[in-house]
Amino acid sequence: MQHLLDVFPERLSSWLADRQEPEYRAGQIRQWILRRRVDRFEEMTDLPKSLRSQLAEEFFIWSSQITAHQKAPDGTEKLLLQLADAERIECVLLRDDREHCTACISSQVGCGMGCVFCASGLGGVIRNLSTGEILEELLHLDRLLPPEERLTHIVVMGMGEPLANLDRLLPALALATDSEGLGIGARRVTISTVGLPAGIRRLADAGVQYHLAISLHAPDDALRNQLVPANRGVGIGAILEAADQYFQKTGRRITYEYVLIQRVNDHPRHARALAALLRNRNALVNLIPYNPVPELPFQTPSWSRTERFVQLLQAGGVNVHVRYRKGNQIEAACGQLRRRTAKNPGDED
Ligand code: SAH
Repeated sequence: MQHLLDVFPERLSSWLADRQEPEYRAGQIRQWILRRRVDRFEEMTDLPKSLRSQLAEEFFIWSSQITAHQKAPDGTEKLLLQLADAERIECVLLRDDREHCTACISSQVGCGMGCVFCASGLGGVIRNLSTGEILEELLHLDRLLPPEERLTHIVVMGMGEPLANLDRLLPALALATDSEGLGIGARRVTISTVGLPAGIRRLADAGVQYHLAISLHAPDDALRNQLVPANRGVGIGAILEAADQYFQKTGRRITYEYVLIQRVNDHPRHARALAALLRNRNALVNLIPYNPVPELPFQTPSWSRTERFVQLLQAGGVNVHVRYRKGNQIEAACGQLRRRTAKNPGDED
């Protein structure tokens, strides 16, 4: 048996061709699953019955199942998915307003980047997600919406480092952004990375219009090496250089994410140094007040410290946005639900 979502589009087309089926069958199947939210081949009524049963014998559509579904009062919904090998990943639906329905998806099981403040990295990386598994996250979230609503945005900001799994992520995003697929505009897809220069360059060369967000978190290498171990041997200079190339090739403004951690990276000198790095670049700083992780010693800065940081960046000539915290009540941040359920197996069953 093969995962249908892993074989779109080429391999499904050749499978159909081998059976003398017309090319447009692939489009019909895609329509049923991606647009009409149908889960079983039997229900694909414009396909010949024999083809439906052949498909059912050779392909499965879902490899994951929802093991927990949480809803926050602000409309955020979080799913814990159990994969075929019993690993678990999280994905989140964020509703910013009536027009925005954002899927936040994971790219790996766990994460190998080891950022010291992050829950996803605590257990290291277990494996990459397949293209089909990434698409399943989107489809599960899309199916939470009423029939007339659709996902409008994707942020690859869940668990894992997306640029470490580009081979599987790019085909998934290609189908998500295809007008015949989920039809989400490429400019409405954000990929958040710890900052892997080779991956950034590869993305720049891929000819896609995705929005790139780089998790900087520190304005100098000494501090960044401590907070983001993946920085060691790479350095902020090389990351900014790759980001500048991305901007030149795509014309898309880069977002720099900065998790504000009390008394670690939120001092006025950090704000001034960050402004100096970014002032002459077409950049937006997305400040994320730290979301505390029970096992870790870090704290969220007070509102006044956050305000001061914002003001210093603005005074330094940098565009700033403070990310509103969504879904706190449901542990929407970064691998927290998965961790809790891993420690208490059976909790969610
Ligand atoms: N590996 C990618 C994407 C995953 S995390 C990256 O590094 O960008 C998405 C963002 O959430 C990153 O900026 C990450 O540093 C941040 N983050 C992780 N743990 C957090 C926490 N406890 N509170 C706030 N932001 C956190």
